[in-house]
Amino acid sequence: MRLAETLAALGDLLGRRCHGCGAVARGRGRGELPPLCADCARELAPWSGPACPGCGTMFPGATGGAGHLCAACRLEPRPWERLLFHGPYQGLLRRLVLDYKFHGRLGAQRLLCGLAREAWLRGGAPGAGGGPGALAPPDVVVPVPLHRRRLLHRGFNQSLELARGVGRLLGRPVPLAALERVRHTVPQMTLAAARRRDNVRGAFAADPGALAGRRVLLVDDVMTTGGTLEECAGALLRAGAAGVVVLVLARTPAGR
Ligand SMILES: [Zn+2]
Ligand SMILES: [Zn+2]
Repeated sequence: MRLAETLAALGDLLGRRCHGCGAVARGRGRGELPPLCADCARELAPWSGPACPGCGTMFPGATGGAGHLCAACRLEPRPWERLLFHGPYQGLLRRLVLDYKFHGRLGAQRLLCGLAREAWLRGGAPGAGGGPGALAPPDVVVPVPLHRRRLLHRGFNQSLELARGVGRLLGRPVPLAALERVRHTVPQMTLAAARRRDNVRGAFAADPGALAGRRVLLVDDVMTTGGTLEECAGALLRAGAAGVVVLVLARTPAGR
């Protein structure tokens, strides 16, 4: 056995493999995150610059402060109170999300749920510094649902698994079938931005029994234009939800 393999096996044995790249990790995990090597920890650092609290548009190059509502959000506010996200959809975060989504790499589960929880703690929890103020904690965690047909095809819904992980970490329930996709839709990423809103219009139904009067943390892996999330948030609010906060792992950088 070569030295590298021996070290890798030893790392496995001790639970010290980097959850980002599989190398033996020398550092500890950050907070409650699983172990990460120094390179991956650096690449998976949260977005620390200002960003729009409504849509997550990042303002690279700007310094200090938490960010202000962008012009688009001032003109047409999003239906949620705030968008929380971990970082831009690129590099290692993007690779991990895609791996998780399409290959069901459940090894990424712990890491991605940990990052989502960090995003909540950083941006919304009472006592979070630097953000635009604390949010009231959610009563329930709700994932963006897949249509039954796509779920059958893919075998698992990454948003549901994320929501379960976040719910566990925050001690909040993930009510079954609170939000359902009642209409099959074309995958949003295959459509131009202008057509995405039409594609998902009326695609979701929410259960007032599970949602009326509750504060909802709506969870998805990535936000691009936000058309799907807006449609979901609309359905949740029509079902009587007391408020919606959106939590995603990654936000696509502007213009994509
Ligand atoms: Zn690594
Ligand atoms: Zn905005």
